[in-house]
Amino acid sequence: MTLKVCKFGGTSMADGNTMQTVRKIIESDEKRKYVVVSAPGKRFNGDTKVTDLLYACYNELKETGDCKQSFAKVRARFESIIKELNIDFDVKSVLDETEKRLVEEHSADFTASRGEYLSARIMAVLLGAKFIDSEDVVFFKEDGQLDDLATYRAISQAVADGGCAVFPGFYGKGADGKVKTFSRGGSDISGAIVARAVNASVYENWTDVSGFLACDPRIVENPKRIKNLSYKELRELSYMGANVLHSESIFPVRKANIPIIIKNTFRPEDEGTAILPITQYKPDGNIVTGIAGKKNFTVILIEKNHMNSEIGFIRKVLSVLEREGVSIEHIPSGIDTMSVVVDSDEIEGYKLEQIIEGIKNEAEPDVIRVMENVALIATVGHGMSSSIGTSARLFKAMSEANINAKMIDQGSSELNIIVGVKNEDCEKCIAAIYHEFFG
Ligand code: ASP
Repeated sequence: MTLKVCKFGGTSMADGNTMQTVRKIIESDEKRKYVVVSAPGKRFNGDTKVTDLLYACYNELKETGDCKQSFAKVRARFESIIKELNIDFDVKSVLDETEKRLVEEHSADFTASRGEYLSARIMAVLLGAKFIDSEDVVFFKEDGQLDDLATYRAISQAVADGGCAVFPGFYGKGADGKVKTFSRGGSDISGAIVARAVNASVYENWTDVSGFLACDPRIVENPKRIKNLSYKELRELSYMGANVLHSESIFPVRKANIPIIIKNTFRPEDEGTAILPITQYKPDGNIVTGIAGKKNFTVILIEKNHMNSEIGFIRKVLSVLEREGVSIEHIPSGIDTMSVVVDSDEIEGYKLEQIIEGIKNEAEPDVIRVMENVALIATVGHGMSSSIGTSARLFKAMSEANINAKMIDQGSSELNIIVGVKNEDCEKCIAAIYHEFFG
């Protein structure tokens, strides 16, 4: 039978009412058998997500040895959820036990993971489904990567009885036997892992928006919704800041060609966005699919005469960054010039100076300059490769908006054009490109 794995984000789990909405969605389709949940998110503007309350607990724990004060807020959130739901769940004992374990484990990851743990336990009772602790079925290797084979095997064994099950998102077990979390927003990855393990026909990701928009609605009012995205387009857009879905979440489903559907818990009738393998991808007919931008990059510009004929020049430059443990975002290059673009957070403090010194010593460039506060803007779409003049239109739009491109990089698949602009031009640039291609 066709199976659906549904992941519900923080706003869908925010309180008893939203959890009831989630229950109705699950019960309205018998294919929705496996559920992955986030910790309760914000109930209103200015509210605090449970995961953030838990990180505050860990800070208190580090300073004072317990987290009584901060954990009181977590208690209050879950007690009020149980009161609203009116279900048979001994919330006091579960919270007491959780608080005790926070002190014993004394770990940031363990503490942060309890939001998902508690919301999954509650959701399991609400649905009359089995609770499967991700600690027992999601495993990481020594290097921090997912141990996918062991994980898929454990999940399929855990669901072998055929009943409905609820999994907490965001965490698993590290190689040291302790709870380990993914990066923030990682429940999306957990959902994809479960979808892959049970060989789901669809991975439904339920959130509080009706799908992906062609650009950030805080920048352009009412941007067009994207009906279909390919995995590759999604990866480009989410990596560059379109944060509907964690950028790592496609990897588990991609190998098995499982489509991801982004749906809105609060408007379930809306079609949402389908993220599909290229073989199932139906373009919307637009040249550009979406535009996303991210601020705070640093560009190291390097010039050296006859760079292109000096064998090993780029390797020398890159080995300096490798030694400093800095990952590289882009390397646009010319005949006698190359630039290295890195996330500014990665080279905070003395690291940048060390990198510059290292490049000077090892690669002996003629000129080396640093450009900070750069925003990268990615214009993404499969339609771009087959349509002549796309970059001309993009740069015309930028010049009409009086924006200077400090750097240009086009991916080899012609799926994207990335431009670097000053941080303060980021929003203006996204708006200009959007209006050029979407009217
Ligand atoms: N609760 C975690 C976070 O706030 C993970 C998630 O919601 O996906 O980042």
